[in-house]
Amino acid sequence: TQLNNHNMGALSAAVETPTYDRQALTPGIVHIGVGGFHRAHQAMYLDALMNQGEALEWGIVGVGVMPGDKRMQQALAAQDYLYTLVVKHPDGEYQPRVIGSMVDYLFAPEDPEAVIEKMADPTIKIVSLTVTEGGYNFHPVTGEFNLDSPQVRDDLAHPEQPSTSFGLVVEALVRRRARGIAPFTVMSCDNIQGNGDVAKRMFSAYARARSAGLGDWLAAEVAFPNAMVDRITPVTAPTDIEELAQRFDVEDAWPVVCEPFSQWVLEDHFPLGRPALEKVGVQLVDDVEPYELMKLRLLNASHQALAYFGYLAGYRYAHEVCQDPLFVEFLLGYMREEGTPTLAPVPGVDLETYRLTLIERFANPQIKDTLARLCAESSDRIPKWLVPVIRQQLSQGGEIERSAAVVASWARYAEGTDEQGEAIDIVDRLREPLMAIATNNRTCPAAFVENRELFGDLADQPRFLNAYLKTLTSLHERGARATLETLVASKG
Ligand code: NAD
Repeated sequence: TQLNNHNMGALSAAVETPTYDRQALTPGIVHIGVGGFHRAHQAMYLDALMNQGEALEWGIVGVGVMPGDKRMQQALAAQDYLYTLVVKHPDGEYQPRVIGSMVDYLFAPEDPEAVIEKMADPTIKIVSLTVTEGGYNFHPVTGEFNLDSPQVRDDLAHPEQPSTSFGLVVEALVRRRARGIAPFTVMSCDNIQGNGDVAKRMFSAYARARSAGLGDWLAAEVAFPNAMVDRITPVTAPTDIEELAQRFDVEDAWPVVCEPFSQWVLEDHFPLGRPALEKVGVQLVDDVEPYELMKLRLLNASHQALAYFGYLAGYRYAHEVCQDPLFVEFLLGYMREEGTPTLAPVPGVDLETYRLTLIERFANPQIKDTLARLCAESSDRIPKWLVPVIRQQLSQGGEIERSAAVVASWARYAEGTDEQGEAIDIVDRLREPLMAIATNNRTCPAAFVENRELFGDLADQPRFLNAYLKTLTSLHERGARATLETLVASKG
């Protein structure tokens, strides 16, 4: 059955559908970057709220800014902006649900004016974003807004016909200001620490380049709440589309698949109001930071802890690694003894339950998260997620052996061959320089961590360096599995 408004009643009873009248929805949110994650997360929470008969004035208007988003516009428009979210449970159960919270989709490259005027409309109270880390246009080392980007330069030259999210959002804010309409709230839901603060710096920097006064106004008047978001949402595979048709008789051009777990911790800072998201499990808090650190240092750092060791030991998927008791013991050891002691209290969260849930989530065989994906862009990940743990543990006299071992496993992985002598495809913005150093790991074993751009002065800390060198040597002499066995046994 083709998915659209008309056919909703004809869908199999196994497929949940909206219980509210979609005709009654009016737009309140514009969302830029309608990818898999937005559709599995924010749009799902709104749909859940609408199913309770609430938030009918918070319909979502999707916006695509990238040329490649044409496909998403076509897919959604053909099915009345409906799509299926398939939750994949570890036991193989699939739970499909039609999400109805999106009411329109605008493709900015063809009609930027329509996008600007939609955002300038007084009914729009929130502009949200999932535009990936690259979408914030900051320099990887300095963190400053990159005014040299050709698209940004174009937008500054023609601010009324912009192509970037900065150009579109700021032009809409300028028009609201001129018309005496209060600014909307900009809500970033990207996986960036301090995402609201980063968005504020980037959008203000763009506005400041238009005029100093505009930059100051934007920084003072527009709210940018921070958020911690979490739900593993892999790229939709062709087989996902086929399975949905075969198992549930739903023809959907672009469904989304995801894990059962979902979390959203949101700073409660919405001057024009917000949907009552607390009614569907969103945690609204004054300070998101403790939750962010919990996620970065337990979830994200554990991904790195399992990825290189797992790959070297011959695994290719995260769930394979997390079904292996040796690795589970190593990961729990890292989380309990090294990651957790660096966290501030996290209100309302039982950290032991959180840690065990992470192992369960990683072990879900339906998600098929590849170790290759987790090993990619390590030079952006290890310094942000794991190095701060090592630094803090060193300064407070805590354990660091497992974290140091993870760094060593990355250095061994970066050599570019696995333990069977097969080539590894290293995906990293620093691929060439890193591989050049790692090739000499046996003769210059400390060189990899002496890279100050990534590790600062960590190599000057004897406790770290000794633990690192010990693991690197063991990886060369005995391999990943034997190395982990010894490490885990030594912690008994
Ligand atoms: P996706 O590839 O499905 O979608 C990415 C979207 O971002 C697309 O709509 C694309 O057009 C847009 N985009 C990319 N670069 C842009 C730019 N420069 N300007 C404007 N838009 C741009 O990816 P996804 O899975 O939806 O993930 C998107 C983001 O969501 C991630 O980068 C991350 O920050 C966050 N997130 C994802 C997950 C996950 O498991 N997928 C989990 C938590 C958070």
